[in-house]
Amino acid sequence: MTLPTTKKVRDTVEPPSSFESIDSREQKLLAAYAFPSHATRGRKYSEPGHRYRGPFQRDRDRIVHSAAFRRLSGKMQVFTGDMGDYHRTRLTHTMEVTSVARTIARALRLNEDLVEAMALLHDIGHPPFGHAGEDALDACLADAGGFSHNAFALTLVEELEQRYPEFPGLNLSHEVLEGQRTRIHKKVEVATSGGQDGPTQPILEVQVVEAADGIAYNAHDVDDALKLELVTFDELAPVPLVDTVIREMQAASTSIPPQLVRQVLVRRLVDCQVSSLIEATSGRLLRLAGPYAPGDSTDPIIGMETSVAVARRGLAEFLFHRIYRHPRLLKVRCVAQDRLRWLFQFYLEHLTELPEPFRRRMRTVGPPRAVGEYLAGMTDRYCTEQYERHSPGPG
Ligand code: MG
Repeated sequence: MTLPTTKKVRDTVEPPSSFESIDSREQKLLAAYAFPSHATRGRKYSEPGHRYRGPFQRDRDRIVHSAAFRRLSGKMQVFTGDMGDYHRTRLTHTMEVTSVARTIARALRLNEDLVEAMALLHDIGHPPFGHAGEDALDACLADAGGFSHNAFALTLVEELEQRYPEFPGLNLSHEVLEGQRTRIHKKVEVATSGGQDGPTQPILEVQVVEAADGIAYNAHDVDDALKLELVTFDELAPVPLVDTVIREMQAASTSIPPQLVRQVLVRRLVDCQVSSLIEATSGRLLRLAGPYAPGDSTDPIIGMETSVAVARRGLAEFLFHRIYRHPRLLKVRCVAQDRLRWLFQFYLEHLTELPEPFRRRMRTVGPPRAVGEYLAGMTDRYCTEQYERHSPGPG
């Protein structure tokens, strides 16, 4: 089959007169520094425009309908499925990031559709067992370029997802892919007032997604860790940012029933970070005279007030040392990494056990990468099942 031209094209179909065009809507709603949909560099493979959905709305829908996105429901965020069913999965984390990112984008009059698409995409490349799984695959593929969940997200949506007869992948818009690409090469910095010079910053919508990711996981990991009793409320109370929020809760006129303290704390943790970010960023945006493009600034624009940014770094350190390195999670990490390493070696030595699409994939990327990609696509449960099926077992 001959594939269509690889020339990038924009969605160009005009909507019927009864519909408001995307351009007209965005002209009313978006600020001059936002990235408007009409400015997209288009898609790799030519497609006609849609009657009433803009390019980034279509991207969002393509991501949500993909198999890789659905599998996020079976992938752990920080805590595994056998630790209960209250805590976040990679999917619910993604939805919380998207929710926070949309709130920020709307308040700052940025392109919500673009932000939403990038937020939904940002963790789609996570392998089973979170960062433990990523580290194991990275070591397994050390001689073949390593493994990064941010890069694998692009492999999934540009090559592995099969939904269209005309092209591989989802054929997402250039800006959505570019936003994800930014996550590979460097962590997008989040601004603080008077921040230091850094690398050239991407478009504002990309910066919003990065900020929303941090806000969401800081708050929900506190919630989950308290619920799972990995940490007590008294241990958390003096931690930066948490202490500020607790003082606000104590000063509030409404009394909080003991059974709702955790929920109120987490809600206020999100609110104080989002509010600080919107306040501080609004001030920086006032100084932008017009359109904003990557390279216009080496200082990040999207970010919180300095005091809140410093406090949240204190919270992040606490989470790292007390939660992410908790003995219960370290044990999970060891077991997960042993399984992935074992399965990687097993499939390398038994390539016929790979599903047919990955046997074909070997011809393009070689056996180690194809095996790594097969493992990276698995849910935690499926990975465990495959390990139990193929490994010799205890006896
Ligand atoms: Mg994330």
